Amino acid sequence: MPSDSALRIVWIYPDLLSTYGDQGNVLILEQRARKRGIPVETIYVRSADPVPDSGDIYLIGGGEDRPQILAAERLRRDNGLSRAIDNGASLLAVCAGYQIMGTVFGGEEGQPVAGIGLLDIESRRGPSRAVGELAAEVDTGLGGHMLTGFENHMGVTRLGSAVRPLSRTVVGTGNGDGTEGCHTGKIVGTYLHGPALARNPWLADVFLGWATGPLLPIDDTWYDRLRKERLTTVLPT
Ligand code: GLN
Repeated sequence: MPSDSALRIVWIYPDLLSTYGDQGNVLILEQRARKRGIPVETIYVRSADPVPDSGDIYLIGGGEDRPQILAAERLRRDNGLSRAIDNGASLLAVCAGYQIMGTVFGGEEGQPVAGIGLLDIESRRGPSRAVGELAAEVDTGLGGHMLTGFENHMGVTRLGSAVRPLSRTVVGTGNGDGTEGCHTGKIVGTYLHGPALARNPWLADVFLGWATGPLLPIDDTWYDRLRKERLTTVLPT
């Protein structure tokens, strides 16, 4: 990101995919950037509009099966996100948005629906809905923190060899195989709502660091209280 320009955050399809406070991920990035004196410009891309390829950080949220299928169709026709990733942008994809980034996911009747293939993952409808709190140990390559969030999905996800698990589940379902989410390059996919970045500010800083370089420390008191409250509630003692 050039030093004289604002950090460009792009929120993809808020009209289709934004459940369980996913839009909070945008607010957390904005707030944590501004507290460090980094100017921010946020672009809300509705599903009728083209996805710009000039952003620094892209976010997409979760949603119901039908809007998820619609979003996948529109993103497949619009190559803006793939171009942005090729240009060096990062992406946080949550739940339905995470599944869309793979090669295929299960529709409302379990039918296979094509994703956009940015991630080497395949999702399908699982035997039961995974609902509730999740805690997981994050890949040491991304800091080894504890991931905390809320999941609500039917999908199960198989990771291919081109991605690494984001974390190993301690509580909850995640991908359905003992892992939760995945990452490769500057793309992170996760099943977690909550919103994920409010509950995992270290992950917000991973994205901000990718875009702007080393970050100044900021006051995490309230984030820490939220994390502690959630983690002590769900983790076995
Ligand atoms: N429709 C998807 C599933 O059930 C995603 C759900 C979500 O985004 N919360 O797996």
